[in-house]
Amino acid sequence: MIHFKQHTIGQAVWCSGVGLHSGLKVALVLKPAVPDHGIRFQRTDVPDSPAICAHYNNVIDTFQATTIGSAGIAVSTVEHLMAALYGCGVDNALVELNGPEAPIFDGSAAPYVKLIQKATIVEQDGARRYLTIRKPVVVEEGDSSIIATPADHFQVHYEIEFPHPRVGKQEYSWELKNGSFGREIAKARTFGFLKDVLRLQQMGLIRGGSLSNAVVFDDNEVLNVNGFRYSDECVRHKILDFIGDLALTGLPVLGKFEVRKAGHTLHSRFLAELMDGKEYAAQTPVTIPSPYLSSGLSAIA
Ligand SMILES: [Zn+2]
Repeated sequence: MIHFKQHTIGQAVWCSGVGLHSGLKVALVLKPAVPDHGIRFQRTDVPDSPAICAHYNNVIDTFQATTIGSAGIAVSTVEHLMAALYGCGVDNALVELNGPEAPIFDGSAAPYVKLIQKATIVEQDGARRYLTIRKPVVVEEGDSSIIATPADHFQVHYEIEFPHPRVGKQEYSWELKNGSFGREIAKARTFGFLKDVLRLQQMGLIRGGSLSNAVVFDDNEVLNVNGFRYSDECVRHKILDFIGDLALTGLPVLGKFEVRKAGHTLHSRFLAELMDGKEYAAQTPVTIPSPYLSSGLSAIA
């Protein structure tokens, strides 16, 4: 369903949890914001911290998670919250947090969807603009690829292949329509392989990781007692991550995205290609520099 007005949340809500990579406990407050504000993150533990626009130009790291930063201040693992805001149709919000990383909760976006629903979603006066794919965009690297083509709605087809008996080849097609993010995507958890755990911990990552916030595989099996939430939970989570990263365009997008064996780094490269790598005024897309995109209500009327 296409909405013609921007949306924010009706009231401030808060939550707290541990960061997947930092292991640090963080309190997060989600606040309403005015039209054309977009999504911004503000570190309350850093004096005079700027509000960082959740925008692809501010992506500073994509290894194992998406980190945004500005003026030396960073917030990492923003993708699950960004996916929840995007999937719920929230255009404007301020995210305050007193640490360097958004909480991981259970490794999915479902707790963030619940938080947004608790805050309620309200319509605002500002007209909503969409980015519309005008001609195909292709980004490839080895056997990984992302192809965007014009479409009237936001659709993602994702394909993964892991040489593991419980994962193998999975594909899933998803379209954003009333409630489809919450029903089909939000509950899918992040996943990892036991053989990688030690290596990542030695790199200072996944300090907060556990079986309560990720699906973990040994060489043959799922280690979580209750197994999967969906038989194809892994590919659904990849769609969740893709939505969260694509949300860094700063606007809802209309187009079809076919993604194969990608991750945060290729998602980010794709965004740069899509937006043509040029400077782009965050949240005020009066002109669109990219040849691939057009913007405005006329495209969807
Ligand atoms: Zn993820």
